[in-house]
Amino acid sequence: MSKTKRLAIDFHVHVDENVNYEKIPQMMRARNLDGAGIVTHNNFAFAKKVVKKFTRVDKTKVYFPGVEIDTADGHLLAFGINKEIPVNKSAAATVELIRSLGGTSIIPHPFMSHNSVGWTAANLKADGMEFYNGFAKIFLNFPNIMAKVAFKYNGFSPLGGSDSHYHKAIGTCFTWVEIDGKPSEEKILAAVKRGATFPAIRPIDQYDLVNFIRIVFTPKKGRKVVRFLDYF
Ligand SMILES: [Zn+2]
Ligand SMILES: [Zn+2]
Repeated sequence: MSKTKRLAIDFHVHVDENVNYEKIPQMMRARNLDGAGIVTHNNFAFAKKVVKKFTRVDKTKVYFPGVEIDTADGHLLAFGINKEIPVNKSAAATVELIRSLGGTSIIPHPFMSHNSVGWTAANLKADGMEFYNGFAKIFLNFPNIMAKVAFKYNGFSPLGGSDSHYHKAIGTCFTWVEIDGKPSEEKILAAVKRGATFPAIRPIDQYDLVNFIRIVFTPKKGRKVVRFLDYF
């Protein structure tokens, strides 16, 4: 029988918006991560391309592609799919679509500004939720605490993700994932579905600050801009 092991996985690593993503495999080692969900905003094909490249140069980690979708209600992460997910549908319809494609859906940063699903999350049948998000961490962790208080008992697998748009910020929040045997994308996503996950957060550092500045001040062509002051 194979032994159960815990992998350190960052489910929310961006490779879009001018991210110096070639340096991610090197940072994965520095941050002691075992795997990463590689995402873009609304462009699954690109994340898939980057994952192929990473897998070629670094066979020691599990890289798996995903997408952060702009739904009509706010951001939603999808993994384990094999096609683009349309934007601007309701979060509920998007979760259903991901499920029908055999994918895994995760609600990121539920309480960050207007690009988040907020209280709508209570009615979503998503597989997981970020109780620790690297961007939300900057606000004295308050949006993360609020997510946990509000949705602790809604059946979402608890996750952590850095939301890194800066390669040095990867792993600032991450998830311990329990699997048996050889690590793979399928096993990691199956663990999310069955709730074998434990969110983790590292103390705030200068990389979190740079990441915050990058997210807020990177122009987003055709996308809603993060107006963080809306939150207060
Ligand atoms: Zn987001
Ligand atoms: Zn993100």
